[in-house]
Amino acid sequence: MSESRQPDHLDFLFRYMNNASPTGYEMAGQKIWTEYISPFVDEIRSDYYGTAYGVINPQHEYKVVIEAHADEISWFVNYITDEGFIYVIRNGGSDHIIAPSMRVNIHTPGGVVKGVFGWPAIHTRKGKNLDMAPSLENICIDIGAKNKAEVLEKGIHVGCVVTYQDEFFELGENYYCGRALDNRMGGYCIAQVAKLLSEHKSELPFGLYFVNSVQEEIGLRGAEMIAQTIRPNMAIVTDVTHDTRTPMINKIEQGDIASGAGPALTYAPSIHNKLLQMVIDAAKEEEIPYQLSVASRSTGTDTDAFAYSNGGIPSTLISLPLRYMHTTVEMAHKHDIENLIKLIYKTVLKIDPGFNFKYF
Ligand SMILES: [Zn+2]
Repeated sequence: MSESRQPDHLDFLFRYMNNASPTGYEMAGQKIWTEYISPFVDEIRSDYYGTAYGVINPQHEYKVVIEAHADEISWFVNYITDEGFIYVIRNGGSDHIIAPSMRVNIHTPGGVVKGVFGWPAIHTRKGKNLDMAPSLENICIDIGAKNKAEVLEKGIHVGCVVTYQDEFFELGENYYCGRALDNRMGGYCIAQVAKLLSEHKSELPFGLYFVNSVQEEIGLRGAEMIAQTIRPNMAIVTDVTHDTRTPMINKIEQGDIASGAGPALTYAPSIHNKLLQMVIDAAKEEEIPYQLSVASRSTGTDTDAFAYSNGGIPSTLISLPLRYMHTTVEMAHKHDIENLIKLIYKTVLKIDPGFNFKYF
């Protein structure tokens, strides 16, 4: 980032993206997020596990949720050898294949300790070891300590979380790139919807809940909790989906989704067809580009947590196409981000609390 002053929303975007918010430890990110949206909502609330939400019209009985998830995948320190090497387990779907030669931050009670995932030199890998693949059994972190005692002295203990050091940046004219755009970009987008509603002084005939859930990456847990707390009448969830135009992705299996071609809307049993149609109508009326995808059984997103709570809550999913999910170089197209914000905003303006979601 340059010294020149940039607009508030971009300042927020960069600060939010560059902050670590590992699953179970999302508080620093939630602080940045709630501070940013608080001028646009009537109330800020949170629950014991850290899910944060801003509410417009808390007095209304009819409740609409717009949701994203706040947590990022990370690692847990699991085992420290006598020589001072640190073995890890996953916290969320962290990819062992990308670990070697990455720089990490180990989050300790006393602050961050830097480390690296080392890897044996190519010269030392003879025969079948030449093509040895990284796995949870062979990747480990080196902090430059001479033994286990020195690792412990630094404040590192079993259970510390570990994130990558990689930061957020603009890649070319059209892309943002970095770690955990999944799904902090969703948190950014719903915050922009709050800002748009505030700027346009939109009067809504319902309570609107901007929810930034924790613990999505380990099984939609934050959304499960907050769905029961808020007990909404409907939910619009944002997450990321795979751009399948990049190399080595099978479109026959994964469908055809391209970055830059608009947010993706999903057909799945947990997606309420009438709510999905409402989103499609908004996209058509406003000429917002969109793409279609389909999920077999579950969507794997917080949509399922809302849909299958409280006796069934009409829910839908609006996804941001993303390249290289769960790596440190996740990429999202700026037009898709803008169109996702616009699509949620325009859909919210169409919501009528008298709408009948019954299928028959
Ligand atoms: Zn994810």
